[in-house]
Amino acid sequence: MTPPPIVAIDGPSGAGKSTVAKALAARLHVPYIDTGAMYRAIGLAARERGITLPLAKADADRVAALAESLSLDLDVTGGQTRVRLNGRDITDAIRLPEISLYASAVSAIPAVRRRLVAEQRRLAGRAGGVLEGRDIGTRVFPDTPHKFFLTAPLDVRAERRSRELAARGTPQPEEVVRAEIERRDHDDSTRSDSPLTFDESYTLIDTGRRPVNEIVVELEERIEKMRGQVLT
Ligand code: C5P
Repeated sequence: MTPPPIVAIDGPSGAGKSTVAKALAARLHVPYIDTGAMYRAIGLAARERGITLPLAKADADRVAALAESLSLDLDVTGGQTRVRLNGRDITDAIRLPEISLYASAVSAIPAVRRRLVAEQRRLAGRAGGVLEGRDIGTRVFPDTPHKFFLTAPLDVRAERRSRELAARGTPQPEEVVRAEIERRDHDDSTRSDSPLTFDESYTLIDTGRRPVNEIVVELEERIEKMRGQVLT
């Protein structure tokens, strides 16, 4: 029997990764693993301890120590990633708009990445998974043959994110959302540890003008084809 697949879905904010990754995981019968939720959890913990942005060097050291000591429980069995921090369910709290920039700031700290990458490998090691993030195909599972880089024009991504925030009951002005996305794209792509990037081992998917269903079907077909080739 072939082992369950490990699928990397990387790309910038608002590229449609969550929607595609959730649907794909359901079709492949493997867990959907939202790695951004883990960085958000550390970001929330930092904010709750009164740490402010931009992170000073001493704060980065505090966050690194925090990341080592916190208890983070991830439940990926229910089609979404539920997160508990020291026993408290923070699944909704990490979605507040201000946590996005905290997540991005703490994600640049190597000790934070080390801890979370180990967790991600452990989670997907059990039963495979569709992992959504920024460095899944470059760092977390560089050897998986199933790598997809999703992207879309900035306008489309900003609009999507605005709609998502409004639907969650935390609407933000469009220009604020756009600035936040641009800032995170820049920071995530230029940090020295595991920057957001892709190479020829990825299939590049522009989600700007295509229906989600069509994209999910394309990804599933590519994965099944690849798995068939591995078998023969
Ligand atoms: O995907 P999401 O917007 O929830 O991610 C929040 C932040 O977490 C990103 O902007 C990025 O800085 C960080 N992240 C990361 N590596 C991942 C997933 C998320 O650095 N694999």
